[in-house]
Amino acid sequence: MTKKIFRAILSISLVILATSLLVITAVLYNYFGEAQRQQLRDELRFAAQGTNQLGEEYLKGLSSNRYRLTWIAKDGTVLYENHANRVDMENHADREEFKEALENGTGSSSRYSTTLMTKTLYEAVQLPDKTVLRIAIQQASVMALMVELLQPIIFIFLLAALMVAWVSRRMAEKIVQPLNQLDLEMPLENDTYKEVSPLLRRIHLQNQEIQTKMQMLRYKQEEFQQIISNMQEGLILLDDKQKIISINPSAERLFFADERCIGKDFLTICRTYEMQRALQNAKKHGNAQYQETRNDSVYRFDISCVMSDHVERGLLILAVDVTEQVNAERNRQEFTANVSHELKTPIQSIVGSAELIENGLVKTEDLPRFVGHIRKEATRLVTLIEDIIRLSQMDENKVMPEEDISIRSIAEEVKDSLTDMAEKKHVTLQVSGHEGCLHGVNRMVYEIVYNLCDNAIKYNKDGGYVRINITDSADDVCIQIEDNGIGIAPEYQEKIFERFFRVDKSHSKLSGGTGLGLSIVKHAVKHHNGRIEVDSKLGEGTCIRVYLSK
Ligand code: ADP
Repeated sequence: MTKKIFRAILSISLVILATSLLVITAVLYNYFGEAQRQQLRDELRFAAQGTNQLGEEYLKGLSSNRYRLTWIAKDGTVLYENHANRVDMENHADREEFKEALENGTGSSSRYSTTLMTKTLYEAVQLPDKTVLRIAIQQASVMALMVELLQPIIFIFLLAALMVAWVSRRMAEKIVQPLNQLDLEMPLENDTYKEVSPLLRRIHLQNQEIQTKMQMLRYKQEEFQQIISNMQEGLILLDDKQKIISINPSAERLFFADERCIGKDFLTICRTYEMQRALQNAKKHGNAQYQETRNDSVYRFDISCVMSDHVERGLLILAVDVTEQVNAERNRQEFTANVSHELKTPIQSIVGSAELIENGLVKTEDLPRFVGHIRKEATRLVTLIEDIIRLSQMDENKVMPEEDISIRSIAEEVKDSLTDMAEKKHVTLQVSGHEGCLHGVNRMVYEIVYNLCDNAIKYNKDGGYVRINITDSADDVCIQIEDNGIGIAPEYQEKIFERFFRVDKSHSKLSGGTGLGLSIVKHAVKHHNGRIEVDSKLGEGTCIRVYLSK
């Protein structure tokens, strides 16, 4: 801008300077030309008076050779000429100044030389004898004057141009300086040309608009970051060249990466063939899905192509931990298979016994034994079905009514219902300890105590004991069921909570076990955010402690 202003001022100044020089030269030329002609007329007047009185003698007597004097007869014949021989001179009748002098008494004219470099001024006057006296002087023409003055003019012009350039630069800088010092952050605070005020007001409004939009953008970005940072799922955004644009903490953990991977190729953090194939498929079909085991968990990767205006802009990878779903599905399948197997065995036994009786192959005295067997198997079947139903209900995660319960009362209740069974095995059953009050599902807590006591009696020795002790603490209630039965080997102590797992299948069956009791316990304890501890020694006995949160 400084340059533009400088150039504009300089060029205008130079044009004005050049024009001024020309105009001044022309005015001066005219002025001096006019003065010279006046002088010529004065000289002619004196010469005319002299010639009138003394004739040719006067003219000859004039010493100055500065002017050219020509005395011309009425017919145009040259009578006298001080610069040339009059005989050689042609007739002057057609000369403009001569004709004018004859007509008006005086005449004047000017004529350029052939080169146009000189100009001759003529003044003529008619003498009383009707002859004409003419005076002439050579004068440099405007062009000659220009040629002569060219050097000083150029010198003056250059000098003036330099000064003009310097002044122009200073002026341009002075004009632009306030504009350069404008504070565009706070446009309304500036004290500058009033012509700039509308522009500053517009900038102020635009600044406000930009700030509002920036704030909104920041807010949205923070919101987005907050959401993706707290997401359980891994989220990765790739550009169209598969470079990482964004990655959330869950995805960083999943791929053992950190935020330094942003801007790098996705291959630097994941090189599996399945992932690359899925990315290609997503590009081709718009989306792709696949499952992969990573860090001991199963993840489902959902890959979507991000499109805008029908152009692929990148890919979005969403990693969801589906371990629980996969395990649940596997457990469900295993459970179904186990249930079928467990149901089939007693039914086959019942059908077998019934067929033998039907075909008369059982002796009369053996009949009660066979019928007893059928009843036992049918009872086991009922127990099994009841356990399955109970477990299924728990699996459904149905909301069950919670209430204030006393574990001591529940333990007493369990003791009452198991006394017969304990007596048959000559096992003593004792309840001791605190009240154990908490808020929970009565039915589930009953299942916990019942199943643990049932096992403690079932897997006990003749004449053994089962002790139920309840301990109250600030955070939880501990139910301890201790027996001095057969005990559990260390390698099975974790497995006993799996569905249908039994250390000794025949012993379990013999005592009416289904292999589901501890699974029900585990489920019920989990529902109450509790935990189980197993302390057992093979051949010496088992102590199981259940802690339930208050
Ligand atoms: P079951 O119906 O067979 O009793 P559970 O799920 O209740 O099924 O128990 C799983 C297995 O754990 C039992 O078959 C048994 O082998 C073992 N077990 C459970 N409690 C005891 C205990 N108190 N003493 C010894 N073994 C036990």
